[in-house]
Amino acid sequence: MFAKHHSLDPVEIAQVDKRHVLHPWSDLKTMHTEDPLVLAEAKGIHISDAEGNRYIDGIGGMWCVQVGYGREELIVTMAEQARRLCYYTPFGAMANVPAAQLAQALAERAPGDLNTVSFATSGSGAVDSAIRFAHFYFNCLDQPSKRQVIVRMDSYHGSTYLTASMNGKRRDWSQFNYARELVHFLPSVNAFRRPKGQSLEDFANEKVADLEAMILELGPENVACFVAEPIQASGGVIVPPEMYLPRCLEICRKYDVLYISDEVVTAFGRLGHIFASKDVFGITPDIITCAKGLTSGYIPMGATIYSDRLIKAISGENAVDHPYFTNGFTYSGHPVAAAVALKNLEILEGDGILEQVRDTGPYFQAELQKLRDLPIVGDVRGMGLMACVECVVRKIGAEPGEADMAVAARVDAHAQERGLILRPFESLCILSPPLIVTTKDIDRIVSILRDSLIATQNDLIAEGIW
Ligand code: PMP
Repeated sequence: MFAKHHSLDPVEIAQVDKRHVLHPWSDLKTMHTEDPLVLAEAKGIHISDAEGNRYIDGIGGMWCVQVGYGREELIVTMAEQARRLCYYTPFGAMANVPAAQLAQALAERAPGDLNTVSFATSGSGAVDSAIRFAHFYFNCLDQPSKRQVIVRMDSYHGSTYLTASMNGKRRDWSQFNYARELVHFLPSVNAFRRPKGQSLEDFANEKVADLEAMILELGPENVACFVAEPIQASGGVIVPPEMYLPRCLEICRKYDVLYISDEVVTAFGRLGHIFASKDVFGITPDIITCAKGLTSGYIPMGATIYSDRLIKAISGENAVDHPYFTNGFTYSGHPVAAAVALKNLEILEGDGILEQVRDTGPYFQAELQKLRDLPIVGDVRGMGLMACVECVVRKIGAEPGEADMAVAARVDAHAQERGLILRPFESLCILSPPLIVTTKDIDRIVSILRDSLIATQNDLIAEGIW
């Protein structure tokens, strides 16, 4: 029995996994029959499976392994902090050194007066905390009706009950109950899917107007916050129209609606800056949520960063009776995670990785754009080191451009055979490689992707689907 736990036989591990692990987004129809890819080790931008096959990790773990795998500094930091102080409760007036220093480091790098940090252990936890704070804030200000949350279709904000209720991917809605009484969805800002003939400018105006119209429809006195990823990541790397985010912020200010910028993906260098809200999109939100790249995925951690304006309005002499923000987790500000995050920031900034991404990002995007010559490619979009190739398939009898099949999974299978892992979602091939990729690595990624798209196209033709 004991030996079994330590078996490295990939077939056996796959069997154990299929029998006992309920993975995120498991397909219950195939969970006991479909073999998982058993991953064993990783270094730099490469990951190897238990059978020794090596792949370029085209998705950076899951938008998170910024500095690459196997960084000795992070491993040593983790061990040293565990030896010094592995854990203590963060509740009440208990501080630990790395968490305090990390909060300061985040405050220094966050825009405007965002200077107060609460820690979580995931992106979902960070977003959940932000919503709970928005409700707490308006209750403290004696405006308890301000509790509605506005989000957008194609958004992804997490997998807790509340944050899952804020996800705008229709496919994920089936068989669940959600907090629909609290969450309201604006139409998608995906310009690729805009009505035929509509100009980009009209599309942008319409999307901004959608937000104002929804606030007015719900009543500004009932709306607590607008939550938006600067670039919608999992929903298909949807880059918003020019000036869309600043104009949304203006509208939020006009109606005293808190603007929560969900930077779980866009922070920590993915767009070449520690935070993208201000440096890339010119907005200073009220709250920023982050996770993933905060620790380069070496250990779980999330953070929510609040503006002084909000904190001041409800603390100290402005505090109500019993003003306890009863939000937080056993592992909030975990010292080992905080120490890793501090070292990760040091690497991102000290090794010039942010500057590197400002060079490799545009190169990555330009090279991917060249895939547009393939008939299967409908759209290529992205920014920095996050990108999406949207496939279009002319299914027999369907409208041209309709993308209604799991074509990206086919592309991913071909890519894996050629040594690259992508993130497939329906017709979307998503890429977010570690930030240390070089232009040479990018050439290899794009070349494998091209071959995989062509192979998929040929399969579809051979099957008579195209
Ligand atoms: N927000 C965004 C924008 C995300 O992309 C994700 C995860 N993909 C989350 C929140 C949730 O983060 P986690 O999975 O760490 O809970």
